[in-house]
Amino acid sequence: MTAPTDATHDPALRSWVSSANLPGCDFPLQNLPLGRFRPHGDGGQLAPWRGGIAIGDQVLDLALARQQCPWPDDVQPLLDLLGQGDLAAFLASGRPAWRRLRAALSAALAEGSDQGPFLELCLHPLAAVEMALPLAPRDYTDFYAGIHHAVTVGTLMRPDNPLLPNYKWVPIGYHGRASSVGLGGGVRRPRGQIKSSAEAPPTYAPCRRLDYELELGLWVGVGNALGEPVPMDQAEDHLYGVSLLNDWSARDMQAWEYQPLGPFLAKSFATSVSPWLVSLDALAPFRRPLQRPADDPQPLPYLDSEFNRSLGAIDITLEVWLQTAAMRQAGQPPVRLSQSNALDAYWTPAQLLAHHTSNGCNLAPGDLLGTGTLSGPAAGQGGSLLELSLGGKQAIALPGGQTRTFLEDGDTVILRGYCQAPGAVRIGLGEVAGTVLPAG
Ligand code: MN
Repeated sequence: MTAPTDATHDPALRSWVSSANLPGCDFPLQNLPLGRFRPHGDGGQLAPWRGGIAIGDQVLDLALARQQCPWPDDVQPLLDLLGQGDLAAFLASGRPAWRRLRAALSAALAEGSDQGPFLELCLHPLAAVEMALPLAPRDYTDFYAGIHHAVTVGTLMRPDNPLLPNYKWVPIGYHGRASSVGLGGGVRRPRGQIKSSAEAPPTYAPCRRLDYELELGLWVGVGNALGEPVPMDQAEDHLYGVSLLNDWSARDMQAWEYQPLGPFLAKSFATSVSPWLVSLDALAPFRRPLQRPADDPQPLPYLDSEFNRSLGAIDITLEVWLQTAAMRQAGQPPVRLSQSNALDAYWTPAQLLAHHTSNGCNLAPGDLLGTGTLSGPAAGQGGSLLELSLGGKQAIALPGGQTRTFLEDGDTVILRGYCQAPGAVRIGLGEVAGTVLPAG
């Protein structure tokens, strides 16, 4: 079985937007990620939010493009939805519509396109626009699909029994908080109950073990009716695409509150996502087999499919970068803390979606699923400071003589992701950055 690539993935394609053709660009013509933005005002009234497509260092304004440029009859209604900023309605329209728009935009932005002279007037520099969440997630669920994260964290909490017996059978998750999902920026250090020693009672105080988690966000496109599970062979038809996701975590609050019902206030104070939705269609050249050790249990039939075994996983390199306030003041650039890959997840996006709906639970367009922290097996591949600092026992050295076990006020955490493969043009997810603000 081969990944369903088409003319939009042709590595020879180039755009008349010249910055899209530069090596290392996150947003070449083969990517075409979808976001919601408005141009910076001229000091007057704010423009309405509208859909946009990132191309090179520009954003194609779909509100302008639907008016300024001729389009095929079956594409115009899709651009009408996106031009009005209604990304949920576009996502609900399903994969044939997503692919139709992708093909039309690929042709329109390609070198030699007849639409180029019209669309040149519909571009804004990315640096001159304000991004919004692509759509407000109605619901947010965070999974635990990173097995190396689960083993390392489990070892810290339960040295004798790091991986609980359910892990290789059932995708573990909890219901997160949709209202505090945002694009990053300032993230206020939470206060909560902290129990510092076995003898003393807990206190209500600012978190002292603030952490990030490197994850992918999976964005539901097409929902399912209550009571109607989505089978594995249809699961990807319900997923529009991915973004980066930082599941900010207060480890000291988490350690005290997590039993018996799982994370609560240690997670719900902030979750940050990158603003551009990279479609599963754009990721087609980077699909890979799901790799599992031979002696692990096979997935139960409702979590298994031929496609999932052969191409269910996605090869996305993931990185965490850090810039402290002192580094920023000294003009030092961010430093990379870790690099890992989404291939290290134990469960694929299709399995997470199929499992989520397997009891009849209904998902809706724009619902957000976090994969769980995507760490690699080696030291230096931990997707959280909890892992990199071995539970706070081993400080990480930073440029300029600083060290970290957990995040300090003024620290900026940046997540980045990109895909590379032979015969394909590199595409990127962009980045999400958040800076820790002092507790209020
Ligand atoms: Mn998480």
